[in-house]
Amino acid sequence: MDDRKIQTPKKLRLSRFTHVFEDPEHFFMYHSIFQKKAFLEKSEWESLRESLTNSNGIMMNDTGRKLFDLGFIVTNDEDEKIIREIRKKLDAPIEPRTLFLVNTERCNYDCYYCYQKPKRNSDMGNDLLDKSIISFLRMTRNLNGMKNIFFSGGEPLLNYPSLKRAYSTVNYLMNTGQASDIGLAVATNGALIDENIAKDAHNNRVFFAVSLDGYLPRHNVYRGVGNDIYPEVSSGIDLLRKNDVDYSIMATVHNKNVQDLEKIAEHFITKLGAKSIGFTMLLGNYEIAPSSESFARYVIKAFEKARDYGVQEARLSVQLQAFLEENINLYDCKEYRGEIVITPDGKVGPYIYFLGNKKLFSKRRLDKLDINKIKDFVQFSKATPILEDGCLNCKSLGICGGGNHYNRYLRTGSIYNHDPEFCTYSKMVLDWMIGDLRKSVFKK
Ligand code: SF4
Repeated sequence: MDDRKIQTPKKLRLSRFTHVFEDPEHFFMYHSIFQKKAFLEKSEWESLRESLTNSNGIMMNDTGRKLFDLGFIVTNDEDEKIIREIRKKLDAPIEPRTLFLVNTERCNYDCYYCYQKPKRNSDMGNDLLDKSIISFLRMTRNLNGMKNIFFSGGEPLLNYPSLKRAYSTVNYLMNTGQASDIGLAVATNGALIDENIAKDAHNNRVFFAVSLDGYLPRHNVYRGVGNDIYPEVSSGIDLLRKNDVDYSIMATVHNKNVQDLEKIAEHFITKLGAKSIGFTMLLGNYEIAPSSESFARYVIKAFEKARDYGVQEARLSVQLQAFLEENINLYDCKEYRGEIVITPDGKVGPYIYFLGNKKLFSKRRLDKLDINKIKDFVQFSKATPILEDGCLNCKSLGICGGGNHYNRYLRTGSIYNHDPEFCTYSKMVLDWMIGDLRKSVFKK
């Protein structure tokens, strides 16, 4: 190590965002906002600490300089400046990127944990469907990058004519240069997929997100139809695969499947051909939810298994992507900023999981819709750990995203408070990522 010293007129100290983890041989420094990482030998750490304490922070060697450049060491007011700048960015106008069209509220299943209760029999009419799509395309016209339209329900395939109409409307507008970069996706329970549906999906480049909680009858016990749904859903998935449709398989994690997540991941990949999978935390319904420790432990194992096959697991990838790309993750789901949900009766609201909450959904003129002028949309975009003073000292600040707004609301009464169960998950995932990184660095 070069002992060249640098001079600085200001007092230096460790940033409040620097978290130090010790193992028998190293000290690992992690910046919880910039997500920078540094492994220090014990002696390096001790000399750094001594120089910061004893020399009044005025003299530093080369290691200190590097750590200063990475943001681990700061002058007195720098941390506050970082926070101010990130918070200021959140005042920028919200970009609407995702439209959720609830094209039907009917469903062939009756999942215990469904967020849409009570069920109703309404379908979205063509007029509303067209107006919703045109309104979304108007709002996103000047946005670069992908914008997505999701069809959700109920079970969207129960109102299949509306999906076909939407596919052709969007394709027509894209082919005639009136829209660009629009992705189409269907969130389905998979039971109704037939050859035609799979072919249409392929021809129109529609992504399917199929929900299936595992491969054994007990894994799917909460789907509410009393029989084993696996045969019909797996047949639907086979048709997607045969017709070369992009799809993911998403499982909701509960007390009857949590211990099998690793095997479920392997099954989805090897038997059902999934190229992406995801494990979702329950929203409400806490009586059938595993503890957050078990959830985290088993999702991590499932993630590792999927990774062995080169497949992405969506739940943990949200945090891992932030950690590896050194980008702060402001929301657990990027749709919290700019998701628009439209129901079959023409009501507009900010987030699909709040469908049952009448206060957040109201009738709006779609031809004049501007979500930056609607208080609920703005408030949803402001519920993030970086705006919570109680989160600023947390080691998981940069990867967390704060969990699901719906669980925050149910557990604490406000979308602005952090969900303690998600905190447990978030912190366990960070510890795992650091351990994983350590293994890959020191095996060399
Ligand atoms: S929500 Fe919890 S885990 Fe996430 S940053 Fe805040 S305190 Fe940390």
